[in-house]
Amino acid sequence: MSDITTPDFKFQPYWWDAAAPVPFEERDPKNGYDVVIIGSGFTGVSAALHLARGGHEVAILDRQNPGEGASRRNAGFIGRVLKKSYSELAAAKGKDKARAIYGELNAAYRFTFDLIEKEDIACFAARPGRFIGATSRGHFNALAKDLAVLEADMGFAHTMLPRERVREELGTDVYEGGAVIPDSGSLHPGLYHKGLLDRTVAAGVGVFGRTEVLAIRELANGKCEVQTDRGTIIADHVVVGTNGYTSRLGWFRRRVVPFRAYMAATEEMPQELLDRLIPHGRTVIDSNTNIDFFRPAPDSRRILFGGATAAPLGGPEEIARRMKGIIDRVLPEARGLRLSHAWDGYCAGTFDLMPHMGRNGNVHYAMGYNFAGVTMGSTFGRKIAARILGEPDQDSIFAAKGFPTMPFYTGKPWFLGLAMRYFDWHDRQLARSA
Ligand SMILES: Cc1cc2nc3c(=O)[nH]c(=O)nc-3n(C[C@H](O)[C@H](O)[C@H](O)COP(=O)(O)OP(=O)(O)OC[C@H]3O[C@@H](n4cnc5c(N)ncnc54)[C@H](O)[C@@H]3O)c2cc1C
Repeated sequence: MSDITTPDFKFQPYWWDAAAPVPFEERDPKNGYDVVIIGSGFTGVSAALHLARGGHEVAILDRQNPGEGASRRNAGFIGRVLKKSYSELAAAKGKDKARAIYGELNAAYRFTFDLIEKEDIACFAARPGRFIGATSRGHFNALAKDLAVLEADMGFAHTMLPRERVREELGTDVYEGGAVIPDSGSLHPGLYHKGLLDRTVAAGVGVFGRTEVLAIRELANGKCEVQTDRGTIIADHVVVGTNGYTSRLGWFRRRVVPFRAYMAATEEMPQELLDRLIPHGRTVIDSNTNIDFFRPAPDSRRILFGGATAAPLGGPEEIARRMKGIIDRVLPEARGLRLSHAWDGYCAGTFDLMPHMGRNGNVHYAMGYNFAGVTMGSTFGRKIAARILGEPDQDSIFAAKGFPTMPFYTGKPWFLGLAMRYFDWHDRQLARSA
């Protein structure tokens, strides 16, 4: 694959050049903690940080090196969106519910920026805005309709751009127009996660990598027994933040659908080319359900991008070639650029396409972010901590309902190919509707 990759190509997240996950397993965990947190991503570290600051003795356990899950692999887009659009939600559940859901997305977005500022984490957090490229006239019309209602009801501003103005936003002619969302953010997820983890350790939290939780059992006295491959721990509360990497924990595995997602980074390019390809430095997605996405790197002159989520790709070569195909198609001027990095990672869908937070006794959980885990994970971690500490702002519209599963589903999503084909069919129907 040397024809499409640089000589120093790495099959690992670009973010790890600045913030590689490191081992944390030197000592064994103690036999007891106030709170044991399973999973060291945004959900786990946010919960841990706030619990430790609230005076609790906390341990984080992770079966990989801390941060090696999706939290240091994602695209670093931070917005106020879900897989279900505002209009879809309003039609299915009524305007009040849709307003409450999007209101909470907005609160999570603001919470994340506030947290970064308060903790003084240097992670290139910014609000460059987002461009959504419409893949057909039908998609353009649907986008215009949805964003108009969202702006009228929620005050989220947007501007629609006709086809002939797309090049003001992206060096391409493949889109049939699009939308600019001026208040939408991005960050360096590796540095954001590292910053949170560093502050968590400084607050006294014990962090144990390479420690897999095998089972959780509630004891008669209300405490929880956490069985790990390094011994058993007793805790007053357990927090589960394992999202797309959930192993062993059957109740949770039956509720999250792991999706394999893919990304790549180009080699560095001249500034003029980058300015032509993404002139305003915005994050870019297209209007399909299964999106292609692009952004400039915050700390070098590269484009980071992804797509083909859930495609059954094999190893590094197949992934790199598929990623190269995406950027060459959408940004033809980037054809001469080789890839310096490619990587994969798991995010988690759910059967109702909604994130979930809740508790079973003293086992608290938050997961199923459907690609919105940077803000939602950070916020849900904080909310769970507030629940355990008895502080305000512990409730969520996403905790109001049960966490659905499907009969016979045990965590192996055999239906993913079918689901993705359904999404593609749905996108084609919308394209024909113009
Ligand atoms: C390629 C890609 C791009 C994405 N882009 C975006 C984006 O732009 N914006 C956005 O908001 N979201 C995005 N996401 C999703 C986002 O990264 C996740 O939703 C978020 O990081 C989830 O954080 P988390 O803390 O819940 O889980 P993770 O960060 O995935 O961490 C879960 C951890 O749990 C551990 N674990 C699992 N089971 C056990 C067990 N039994 N015992 C011990 N440890 C266990 C795992 O080892 C893992 O480290 C993307 C995801 C991917 C993969």
